[in-house]
Amino acid sequence: MTAFPCGPIEVVGLDGDDTLWRNEEYFADTQEFFRALVAPHADGVDLDARLAENERRNLELFGFGVKGFTLSMIETAIEVSQGRVGASEVQALLDRGKAMLAQPVELLDGVAATVAELAPHYRLVLITKGDLLHQEQKLARSGLAELFWHIEIISEKDEPTYERILERHDIDRSRFVMVGNSVRSDILPVLAIGARAVHIPAALVWTYEHADHDGSVPTLRSIRDLPHWLASTAATAA
Ligand SMILES: [Mg+2]
Repeated sequence: MTAFPCGPIEVVGLDGDDTLWRNEEYFADTQEFFRALVAPHADGVDLDARLAENERRNLELFGFGVKGFTLSMIETAIEVSQGRVGASEVQALLDRGKAMLAQPVELLDGVAATVAELAPHYRLVLITKGDLLHQEQKLARSGLAELFWHIEIISEKDEPTYERILERHDIDRSRFVMVGNSVRSDILPVLAIGARAVHIPAALVWTYEHADHDGSVPTLRSIRDLPHWLASTAATAA
């Protein structure tokens, strides 16, 4: 086990979906719509499980995001109905996917004030994964873009990706903390490369992202607690 990094933090990585803005709830709502639409054609099939299986398999081809999710819903609908779903059901699923992409950004409670409070004191990097165009649009709609030092929209949040980001921007890992809601994406790979991470759990977690940490990871109830956590970390290091 490597020593826990110490020293003041200079760069704060912030996750986007379900850390800065609402996201998973829209997927959950759409999935409910999908279930209701497809169930009459799918005699007793566990639709959530089948959709999750298809999403997981398709990640390699489609990547993360709404477009891949929409295609996976359509694929699952065709599969479980043995081709009986009609064009009108497929159209309804496409429309839901489009509505998700057009959805206004809803910042989570405390985000606007906290990000503005941190920006003069730390270099902020948005590190978000998913569809490039949609993530760019969400950032633009968020009104937060100006507050970030760098924006990283990536296709996977794994150790090599975090290593590359730190290297590219010449960030010392002992001066970096990643803040996010997903243990799998925002916490574990960051700890594995010897940097720090702060977990801010969200209400809903996508099954794919589900993972636990051992409880030693700093966990905040709200992003509002982040400035205080950063300040107390600096005080401990001094
Ligand atoms: Mg997230």
